[in-house]
Amino acid sequence: MHDFLLAKEIIDKLREIAQEKKISKITRVNLEIGNISMSHDGHPEHLEEINIENLEFGLGGIVKDDPMFRDVKFGIRKTQSESWGITDIEAE
Ligand SMILES: [Zn+2]
Repeated sequence: MHDFLLAKEIIDKLREIAQEKKISKITRVNLEIGNISMSHDGHPEHLEEINIENLEFGLGGIVKDDPMFRDVKFGIRKTQSESWGITDIEAE
C-alpha cells in the first residue's frame, strides 16, 4: 500500500521540482527508498517496507500520459533508512 502512495508523493515532488527549475522533460530519476511511515485509510502512522516492483508499477502508471515523463527511467536503490530521497535528476 505504501508503495503506491509513495509513488504519488514522488511524482508530485518531481513535478514541483520541474516547475521550479523550468524543466520540460525528465529523462532519469535516481531514488533512494527506505521503509516508509505513513498514515492512511484511517490507520495511525505505521512503518512499511516498500515493494520496489509495486513502486515502479505505480510510478509508471501515474506518468503514463504525461509528456514530461515520456522517456523517463527510474533508478531505485533500497536503503535501510526510514525515509526516501531523490539523489539525481537528469533532464532535457
Ligand atoms: Zn500502511
